[in-house]
Amino acid sequence: MFSKILIANRGEIALRVLRACKELGIATVAVHSTADADAMHVRLADESVCIGPPPARDSYLNIPSLLAACEITGADAVHPGYGFLSENARFADILAAHGVAFIGPSPEHIRIMGDKIEAKRTAMQLGIPVVPGSDGAVTSEVEARRIAADIGYPVLIKASAGGGGRGMKVAHTPEDLEVALGTARSEAKAAFGDDAVYIEKYLAKPRHIEIQVLGDGNGNAVHLGERDCSLQRRHQKVWEEALSPALNESQRQEIGETVAAAMRKLRYSGAGTVEFLYEDGEFYFIEMNTRLQVEHPVTEMITGIDIVNEQIRVASGSPLSMRQSDITFNGHAIECRINAEDPRTFAPSPGRISYFHPPGGLGVRVDSGVYQGYVIPPYYDSLIGKLIVHGRNRVECMMRLRRCLDEFVVDGIRSTIPLFRALVDDPDIANGVYDIHWLENWLGSHD
Ligand code: ADP
Repeated sequence: MFSKILIANRGEIALRVLRACKELGIATVAVHSTADADAMHVRLADESVCIGPPPARDSYLNIPSLLAACEITGADAVHPGYGFLSENARFADILAAHGVAFIGPSPEHIRIMGDKIEAKRTAMQLGIPVVPGSDGAVTSEVEARRIAADIGYPVLIKASAGGGGRGMKVAHTPEDLEVALGTARSEAKAAFGDDAVYIEKYLAKPRHIEIQVLGDGNGNAVHLGERDCSLQRRHQKVWEEALSPALNESQRQEIGETVAAAMRKLRYSGAGTVEFLYEDGEFYFIEMNTRLQVEHPVTEMITGIDIVNEQIRVASGSPLSMRQSDITFNGHAIECRINAEDPRTFAPSPGRISYFHPPGGLGVRVDSGVYQGYVIPPYYDSLIGKLIVHGRNRVECMMRLRRCLDEFVVDGIRSTIPLFRALVDDPDIANGVYDIHWLENWLGSHD
């Protein structure tokens, strides 16, 4: 087992990883920018190192500074959290070259899944269902027209290097295609320095359903069921739940087993998430994230499995602590991402939290790095924390969530708590009937 882990992240996820390390008896090193000197993860870690000025590229993305911090503190492993360097294969390679373990999958798997065309090809080879579309990159408009006619309009042009929903364009007719192809290409070039694009069928009303997996790198892998993350704004997840209200038990077992079998074939190591769009009873692979996800706690709440603990154990060479038959799903969990934003306009609202009172009680978990008097810096994402609620069933979970939102006080800044308070009272949400466009439509009609 590792003796000291450096946590290459900030905010709630740095704290989340720190908690897992402490429970394993592993010493912790926090790193921080000058803007985060007062952060909770810095206060609670055994040691801390300032790695640079506020802009992320000079601190949390600064590989030489992180390496130096490992060297100074003698850390033997790095947990990257999510975002920042968590899906950077070069960082994993560099750490390995310096004898420091990267708590995540192999650089090779990070690379494959980081390239959408390569990821889709790999998924197909592993028997995972994908969205019908071009076989690899599309090079000419003639080819694009032929494929689009084949799969049927509307089609979506996507950037191979894409992320965060950028470089995606819908074409409804052959006439749209030329323009969509051109804009997707130039957006991809500008955002990612790579203009490779591919085409797939545009699904009109899908849900976003993702499967959490854990592998040990030796061909053992399990799935921990699915999360439904269909409630999104600008492709950003807002509310996540496990299990999905849209799946029945046999659909769940089938897709879970398909994904777990694929991970066994790949000899995948660590935690990962295979993301699908789901429409009319069919699953369509969109991407795989080779890291811990923001919404992992809903899975922990229904399985009782500490995903970060498993990541650390597997990275240190231990086998998975469970088999598929050990995993059962208990009740229902919902996560709300509470942001420091105006609940109507979503304008960022950094600043000092003058009063902070998180909810508590049975089945309630608040993952947050903030505290009363803390100043949310303007340089990073606006996540104040995650409210995760568990109930014996979805109805109990929703009742508890409503109660928690009424109890939750964050003063001094604006937060998205009122948005969630309105959502829990909506009949579609109560019934679990929503797709990936539902929230934007709802926001449009509640202006
Ligand atoms: P990114 O990495 O940029 O987030 P994804 O491939 O994960 O790209 O897709 C982001 C979002 O775009 C999805 O959650 C979904 O809302 C939408 N999307 C992606 N592919 C399709 C598709 N074929 N049809 C309809 N919507 C899609």
